[in-house]
Amino acid sequence: MFHIYSYDDAKIFHGKLVQCWFLRKIKGGKTKKNGYSCKDTTCLVCNSKIHMQTDLPSKLKVFLLKDDNIEKLVSGVPKELLSLVGNFEQIKFSKRDQKKIRSFFINTGYENWFQENYSKVFLDKLNLDTCTYCNRNYTLNLIDSRTRAELDHWFPKEKYPILSLSFFNLIPSCHSCNHIKGSPNINWKEALDNYIHPYIIEKHETFKFGFNYDLSLNDYKVEIEVKNGSKIEKTVVANSLKEIYSSNASKELKDLVDLRYKYSDNYIDILINKTFKGLMTEEEIYRLVFNIEIDEKKYHQRPFSKFKHDVIEELKKIK
Ligand SMILES: [Zn+2]
Ligand SMILES: [Zn+2]
Repeated sequence: MFHIYSYDDAKIFHGKLVQCWFLRKIKGGKTKKNGYSCKDTTCLVCNSKIHMQTDLPSKLKVFLLKDDNIEKLVSGVPKELLSLVGNFEQIKFSKRDQKKIRSFFINTGYENWFQENYSKVFLDKLNLDTCTYCNRNYTLNLIDSRTRAELDHWFPKEKYPILSLSFFNLIPSCHSCNHIKGSPNINWKEALDNYIHPYIIEKHETFKFGFNYDLSLNDYKVEIEVKNGSKIEKTVVANSLKEIYSSNASKELKDLVDLRYKYSDNYIDILINKTFKGLMTEEEIYRLVFNIEIDEKKYHQRPFSKFKHDVIEELKKIK
């Protein structure tokens, strides 16, 4: 579970784009009476052929156009999204309308429009290279010779279709993390009190990777140190982080442990504190020798950064 530290560019880009899209879908374009245009000549929505969606339930349109609900829905922080969902759930819709609403948000809006056309630009603006949940895989996928970003919906879009396009609900992730659905019993209305949200930094909620020798396996195995009962502990469990690393980081762990135990001297310590000391910055040494970033805010730039960093720090101490 990793934090997303800087996202202003992506949020501004996304906010403008998605708000125009909603207004255009509800009101139609300039050719319509009372049609919508933001009048920005560079707007990717208002200058394209995005047409009014004529079959939207009128109660949905009323809800979206009320107060600043579109703005909240598009750019509101997770708490605001939940309260918006609460208000929306007060409205009674027929089964048929519910189906239309799902398909409008999930298929028309998210899958066919946003993900298809803008997920890569969105990811570029976020500048996130590896999966927010695991830091093990890169976030870009190649599908039909086109690169697309995999985005997880923190509040599941199947449960809350209206949050399909909300900025704080779009979490860059790898394909496998996007398909771990954690515990199916998660109470999403209380989820912000129980789990870490990647866009919300909670400094005291930390975890550390470690390792242990397992006699029955006759091998080293990955451990995760985390405070009992903390939000981060629940998050680590929900994201199956230990399972992911146990099955995917064993080679990385073995290489590092070997580097410490195959020789009588602590080579890790020597490489960092003697061989390259003074020739490069500490950051450069870790990048060159271990292929990782050591600044928490840059962990996402290279896979396994936090994992290797935590293990190295532990190994350095062993005399
Ligand atoms: Zn526009
Ligand atoms: Zn992942």
